[in-house]
Amino acid sequence: MLHFTGKGVCGNIAIGKIFVFKRQQAQVRRLSVADPAAELSRMERAIAAAAAQLSVIYEKALKEVGETNAQIFEIHKMMLDDEDYNESIRSIIETQSVNAEYAVSVTAERFAAMFSAMEDVYMQARAADVKDISNRLITCLSEHTESGSDYNEPRILCADDLAPSETVSLDKEKVLAFITAQGTTNSHTAILARTMNIPAVIGVGDAFLTAVSDGVVAAVDGDSGEIFLDPDADTLTSMEAKQQADLEKRALLKTLKGKENITLDGTRIELFANIGSIQDIGAALVNDAGGIGLFRSEFLYLENDDYPTEEQQCTAYQRVLESMAGKKVIIRTLDIGADKKVDYFRLEPEENPALGCRAIRLCLRRPALFKTQLRALFRASVYGKLGIMFPMITSVSELQRILALCEEVKVELRAADLPFSNQIEIGIMIETPAAAVISDQLAPLVDFFSVGTNDLIQYTLACDRQNPKLEVFCDPKHEAVLRLIAYTAKSAHSHNIWIGICGELAADTSLTETFLRMGIDELSVSPAYVLKVRETIRNLNLQSPDQ
Ligand code: PEP
Ligand code: MG
Repeated sequence: MLHFTGKGVCGNIAIGKIFVFKRQQAQVRRLSVADPAAELSRMERAIAAAAAQLSVIYEKALKEVGETNAQIFEIHKMMLDDEDYNESIRSIIETQSVNAEYAVSVTAERFAAMFSAMEDVYMQARAADVKDISNRLITCLSEHTESGSDYNEPRILCADDLAPSETVSLDKEKVLAFITAQGTTNSHTAILARTMNIPAVIGVGDAFLTAVSDGVVAAVDGDSGEIFLDPDADTLTSMEAKQQADLEKRALLKTLKGKENITLDGTRIELFANIGSIQDIGAALVNDAGGIGLFRSEFLYLENDDYPTEEQQCTAYQRVLESMAGKKVIIRTLDIGADKKVDYFRLEPEENPALGCRAIRLCLRRPALFKTQLRALFRASVYGKLGIMFPMITSVSELQRILALCEEVKVELRAADLPFSNQIEIGIMIETPAAAVISDQLAPLVDFFSVGTNDLIQYTLACDRQNPKLEVFCDPKHEAVLRLIAYTAKSAHSHNIWIGICGELAADTSLTETFLRMGIDELSVSPAYVLKVRETIRNLNLQSPDQ
């Protein structure tokens, strides 16, 4: 048995035989031609053929991974028309009197090297796109067939790397999982794998490719990134047990997936998922969440040794938005402080950190840090349906300061010609009693509220949420907490904004009816709870007398 580890980009276990993906790539040789004009005509025909192929791929992607993700193939089509790219090919053919394949291959290398050298990680990842369209052109020129998956039973597909178009062209029925030696979690391939819900492990390293061969049995964990080649009996048994547990979960999912979150008497509610990292998106999609109700953006800061740059953040937010393919994504701004500490922030020690300079308080004290995140969020907004929400609000004046900073950011972005959506929803977390009590004054300033019950409970009941000894005092269903939520819901609706709950209490199915009766419009829960809450909602009848 051999053990490899890569980056798990999409969950679930797959066990099966390996198929090593063979790319039928034409060998490009440099040939002198007598008639460069004829080469230019061949080139034009190849571009038309490649564009037609991309249209077919776009339509397939549209159906399988949604419009936002499918757009990459529209971009590929635009790249085919790119003047610099075409000019480079043309001039190589004309000045060197060489074949079109060679001119495309040299141009591809140049452009890919140029993208790889860029600082922006998003632009770096575009090197793969240039290679992808160039390979397609060379294939069209050489009249070779597309890359093949030459097998009948479903297999675990292994490759050095997969281009986005190759990923989306895969016949999902024939792919148990895929493993690539290279690849970054930034790539569209990883996003597509997650969106298509194919178990995938990427970046396993070249040694893996040397070790695999067609037909070898492998067990792949698309969550942990572990791969067992030729697994021994114990490993196989434990992976089969894990797979069985997954299958059972999925059986439940099948019956509820695609169904509405609607009560017996017709009340509808949004059911979203909370995520703490990009890796959780797969789980949100698999569990059929209608969107992301809380994306705790702290992970970007906690995972780094230094402040993440605007570019790094923008790329991360873009990936979340793209992966959710047009579904709403609410990203909460930085909530560092209290229990979440990051060394490089050099926070001053505090007697009571939970009551100290955490979350929005820290951001308002460090406007440069805050504005970097806001700029990244606004810039990423063009890639989907973004909501931004602010944690730990306690007063109208601090909300006004936040909104003024948002306006500043918009002015700066416009001046720099950086686009952003004009449909971003701006909301706040209601997680302090103060915010709940003045929710009628806060509501006119925002588009939505999201109740953070974890903190609302700790601050209302004066119970440190980290202290297990206080559990006896910390009744999550305390009348004081429920009244604050009910009052906040009333304030929201009287100002025509929506209200959700994203704290852990949202997943407590013994309270679902109470929340619905309060008029809560959205519940956002851990991905694994989405279907359980949906089941509860679908069995409720709000017309029957209140219990
Ligand atoms: C909350 O307080 O309920 C919440 C969702 O935020 P966090 O748990 O991240 O503090
Ligand atoms: Mg909180």
